[in-house]
Amino acid sequence: QVVTRFAPSPTGMLHIGGVRTALFCWLFARRHGGRFILRIEDTDLSRSTDDNIRIIEEGMAWCGLTWDEGPVVGDPSQWKGPHGPYRQMQRMDLYRTKIQELLDKGLAYRCRCSREALDERRKAVEAAGKVFQYNRGLDAGKGCAEAGHDASQPAAIRFRMPKGGDIVVPDLIKGETHFPADSLDDWIIARTGEGPGEIGVPTYNFCVVVDDTHMEVTHVIRGDDHLNNTPKQIPLFEALGYELPAFAHVPMILGADGAKLSKRHGATSITEYQAMGLLPSAVRLALARLSWTPKIDGKAVESAEEELLTDEQMIQLFDLADCQKSAARFDMDKLQWLNQKLIQRASWQELEPHLRPFVPGMWDQKPEAWRAQAIQSTQKGKSLTDMAEALRFAFERPAAFDEKAVEKFMTPAIKPALGEVCALTDYGHDALEAGINAILARHGLKTKDLAQALRVALCGKPVSPGIFDTLMLVGRDEVVARLERWL
Ligand code: GLU
Repeated sequence: QVVTRFAPSPTGMLHIGGVRTALFCWLFARRHGGRFILRIEDTDLSRSTDDNIRIIEEGMAWCGLTWDEGPVVGDPSQWKGPHGPYRQMQRMDLYRTKIQELLDKGLAYRCRCSREALDERRKAVEAAGKVFQYNRGLDAGKGCAEAGHDASQPAAIRFRMPKGGDIVVPDLIKGETHFPADSLDDWIIARTGEGPGEIGVPTYNFCVVVDDTHMEVTHVIRGDDHLNNTPKQIPLFEALGYELPAFAHVPMILGADGAKLSKRHGATSITEYQAMGLLPSAVRLALARLSWTPKIDGKAVESAEEELLTDEQMIQLFDLADCQKSAARFDMDKLQWLNQKLIQRASWQELEPHLRPFVPGMWDQKPEAWRAQAIQSTQKGKSLTDMAEALRFAFERPAAFDEKAVEKFMTPAIKPALGEVCALTDYGHDALEAGINAILARHGLKTKDLAQALRVALCGKPVSPGIFDTLMLVGRDEVVARLERWL
């Protein structure tokens, strides 16, 4: 069975690039009927916080990237799935056992080199114009044991990396990458412990190998900023007697200018995209399409209609082999276009839960037919925030009136017609239409004249959904109340 995982470090907000990685893991697991794990990599104690974990969980949940195993949203003591805990700081016993195993077999060793001693060795190597690699190249053979350190002192632990030859990283997106083993040093698998003999907090590259194995991950899909870590991890898998998972390193997301996507380009955190009134389905589709070209019957999708893939279609079509190797540029216009299309295509019931956070709380007290009409009459909006803004009149009286519109539409001639609108009592669509048409005929008015005057009176400006929708959404009693000041 295919098992993928998304393994964020809770050191800040959930970046849109991270969401794209998670999305690929999710799509791949769903495509193959497998499992998707969320694992929290919180060994960077100084930067990891519970708040950041919550932000990650909520962002993932909003995005619809449901995980089969991992933390339970909002409750740090709970998890679901048989491989827990899913927070690395709660897995220390396992890591320490594995590190002890490596020490016992001589595959890892304690290092008590002081920062000063290391700096000196570094300087010597750099003076010769080379890059410092602990116990490699010009530093080869120096190791730690030879230096005669006091064995009763606390130590970090280093992994004995293979020497000579290439370490080959096979990758489902990038193909093979070769790394000369001598370019990789004996890296630290556990930070310096507190007391003699104690094993300190293990490092990312160590924990990830243990967890991916013990969580039975079959496909490690992660950002290609980790490609350089993989040749360190592969020998560790081997040293621990673990089977290698498959790797897929997904390319970075760049800003429109080709630089790494950052704050400078606008929104980067998923929470900001949520606040912009985007549908999670639009975010999923736009992110998936950034570096993946779905093929239908072997042909890349082209037409606008074909672009609007549903989740089911994406899952059906997803293939890592159709992902591009190099970085993709983020396209905000495309995301907004997709969002508008998906809003138009959705049913009101599908839209309602997404719109709810943007409309006043009294939304839920409105009858179902009203809510359906409110959504359907504003579904041309580009975003959920646009829709909510277009519905503001339905919840509150206008705070101000557009002066130019008042001058243009609130003419003396229109007033008797407005008075007659107050007399209409049947707000069923057909009855209302008949009533309004009769008023227009009696006063020799054009639809537009009366409609715009009504909009100004009801909404404060000559812009609103269709006039019958507008009247029905405001409701008879409130229409009369809002018209009265103009009579
Ligand atoms: N914790 C790592 C990160 O946030 C994940 C790396 C991985 O997926 O192996 O970048």
